[in-house]
Amino acid sequence: MSKQDSFETDSDTGDLNEIEQLDKEHVFGTWSYQKEVQPTQVVDADGVRFTDADGNDFIDFSSQLMCSNLGHSAEKVEEAIAEQASKVGYVAPSYTTEVRAKLGQKLAEVTPGDLSKTFFSTSGTEAVEAAIKIARFYTGKQKIISRYRSYHGATYGSISVTGDPRRLESEPGIPGTIKAPDPYAYGSTLDPMESLEYIDEMLELEGNTVAAVLVEPIVGSNGILVPPDEYLPRLKEIAHDHGALLICDEVMAGFGRTGEWFGCDVFDVEPDIMTMAKGLTGAYQPLGATIVNSEIAEHFDENMFCHGHTYAGHPVAVAAGLATIETYQEENLIERANEIGKYLGAQIDKLAEKHPSVGETRGVGLFRGIELTKHSEKRVPFGEREDKINPGSTVVDEVSATAYESGTYVANMINTLIIAPPLTITKDEIDEAINAIDVGLDVSDNAMKQ
Ligand code: PMP
Repeated sequence: MSKQDSFETDSDTGDLNEIEQLDKEHVFGTWSYQKEVQPTQVVDADGVRFTDADGNDFIDFSSQLMCSNLGHSAEKVEEAIAEQASKVGYVAPSYTTEVRAKLGQKLAEVTPGDLSKTFFSTSGTEAVEAAIKIARFYTGKQKIISRYRSYHGATYGSISVTGDPRRLESEPGIPGTIKAPDPYAYGSTLDPMESLEYIDEMLELEGNTVAAVLVEPIVGSNGILVPPDEYLPRLKEIAHDHGALLICDEVMAGFGRTGEWFGCDVFDVEPDIMTMAKGLTGAYQPLGATIVNSEIAEHFDENMFCHGHTYAGHPVAVAAGLATIETYQEENLIERANEIGKYLGAQIDKLAEKHPSVGETRGVGLFRGIELTKHSEKRVPFGEREDKINPGSTVVDEVSATAYESGTYVANMINTLIIAPPLTITKDEIDEAINAIDVGLDVSDNAMKQ
């Protein structure tokens, strides 16, 4: 059992097979101390399950890194990839392909309001990187306000606007990034709406120098934080009052995860710029996208768009994107996520009633978190790992590891189990995974008593 999260954990002591050993020797494990890396070889993946080299099956209750939104048997996407690779496997971005033009059109259709022109890249990180540059070019201003409990990517721009501790080793990062407090009612001293007034004051004190406020509409890896309904509309108002754009980072919340197309749709808010990746191709291909409204798009008619990559709009990746979005539409997966998400929420709430170590459950659709605590009244986190970059808790790792031994993979980060199954999951599969987490939570209940 290895990939509890985008951080490696040190809870695994299993033996490595030959492939895993080769991999450990020659491939960097991400976000980890290399000596602790324990890669698990995956040999098969079907539906919502994947299989390791010993033949063990696991329910993928976090869609890997909250990205395999179609599960692992999306035939239409698999065929589109093969067809495009054999037709035109690559052309430079100055050429186009049918799939690129049609995916651009499709994104204009499914994203809110006037968002209409897309820059394609190959990851969420690059989508955010492009959003920062576009906001700076368009406004002629430098500063970006983002929030502490956020993750926006690993390269210098995107890690600089990231608020969680993964940023620390890369500091000071790019100039002009400022962090604001979060809408985190359970764990912050500020009420979510008070935290907004704080951002208002920050913008005032920065004078007219802020290009954009960048937020995940529903915070993902930092704990599935759902703000009050009025939060995002008011944030847009505050940003615009100060001449700043609103950028919504939909890399994790996008494409049906929340039971709506995008996290911002939950609050009926149209951002000025939006970033996407992960669910855009159901993780079948690496693809990032940054979409802007028509006013921002038109700015670049007369001002050079100083940005691009060799693989911008890669034909095979955009073919996967187009087939993925068509699959969401043809199989009504967004509506399905909304419906079955209610069932998932109800099962999670039953766990909360049973297990005293569950501090709070949060989420919408198929995007849910279980925050654990060692003292429910005082809301004390388990976090006893002395690691400034990965301050989570070994207890929470053990909860995930125990669920894994019971056949369910569930990611965790900083005291929170992150539940984000494929949009295709059935009620029976949910029940199976919930039972495995139930067993896992006995570990944290016991740890409360120590
Ligand atoms: N933004 C958000 C909200 C994310 O969750 C992530 C990845 N977890 C990223 C950006 C970066 O995406 P990637 O890992 O594809 O570069």
